[in-house]
Amino acid sequence: MKIGVLALQGDFDAHRRRLEELGAEVVLVKKPEQLDEIDGLVIPGGESGTFLKLLGEAGFEKLKQFARTKPTFGTCAGAILLASEVDNPKQEGLGVLDIGIRRNAYGRQLDSSIIEGHLGESPIEMVFIRAPKIERVGPGVEVMATEGKDPVAVRQGRVMAATFHPELSEDTRVHRAFLDLVRNGHKK
Ligand code: GLN
Repeated sequence: MKIGVLALQGDFDAHRRRLEELGAEVVLVKKPEQLDEIDGLVIPGGESGTFLKLLGEAGFEKLKQFARTKPTFGTCAGAILLASEVDNPKQEGLGVLDIGIRRNAYGRQLDSSIIEGHLGESPIEMVFIRAPKIERVGPGVEVMATEGKDPVAVRQGRVMAATFHPELSEDTRVHRAFLDLVRNGHKK
């Protein structure tokens, strides 16, 4: 199973390490054509506006085609890229995940903090860094994790997103859930 990690900017290396630790073969994706060789893709945190600039129009289109057909997991800025609606400021998204998301939504309160949230019913450490907030969850979207009342990890079909950084915690459950999705497909 080959998993790509979009390596244009941001914290792609922590994802690479985690995925390798879990037994995946990892490709650092720097060119659009590399998307053709992988079974799933992780879009890391970073700055979503910068991602858009670095991708350019052709890269954006190629990424959209990929995320429409193959398992894709975005964390933080990656979650923003996948969304159908982006605010603060308004920004284009790939539109493959039916959520409304607000950038830098927690102000200084969650500006880099480690909080205990819940993955399903079980407690899990969550690292937030200038996190966006999922403000709307579409009807086909499953909430996988919450922090207080807020959804912080969601899944729609083969697309997964988290507003926190599971690659920065020791807990491997979120990446495992993604690898399961790549391995077994999705039920919806
Ligand atoms: N604030 C960033 C954005 O709006 C996301 C932060 C992150 O990825 N850690 O794109």
